[in-house]
Amino acid sequence: MALQTRPKEITVDRNAGLLRMTWADDHASEYPLRWLRANCPCATCREERRAAVMNTDPLRLHTGPAPSTTIAGAELVGNYAVRLRWSDGHDTGIFAFGALRACCPCPRCNPSGPPPLLDE
Ligand SMILES: [Zn+2]
Ligand SMILES: [Zn+2]
Repeated sequence: MALQTRPKEITVDRNAGLLRMTWADDHASEYPLRWLRANCPCATCREERRAAVMNTDPLRLHTGPAPSTTIAGAELVGNYAVRLRWSDGHDTGIFAFGALRACCPCPRCNPSGPPPLLDE
C-alpha cells in the first residue's frame, strides 16, 4: 500500500469534532465529523443524498431527527478502511483510506476545500 494511503495514527477528537489521521508519509489530515457524516459512503446515505439532489421526495428531508455528528467509535476494516460508529447507532459507513486521503481538507491537498468523498 502506498505511504499516502496508509495511516500511522487515527484519533478521534470529540471536543474539536475532528477525525485526525496521520499518514505513513507524515502528512496529517483533519476531517470534521460533520463533513464525514454528510459524506457517509454507505448505500443508505448515498441513496438519501441522491434523492435529495433529484428532489424526488422533498418531504423526506424533513422527517426524523438530523443525523448525529457525534462519534461513538471507530474501528479498522482490514487494512484499507475505517468504520465509523455514530452516536445514533448508524455504523454502516466504511471510509476507505484512499478516498479519505484524496479528500484531505488541508489547503495543500485541496486548496478550494475537500471534494465529495468518492464512492468506492
Ligand atoms: Zn451512512
Ligand atoms: Zn492534506
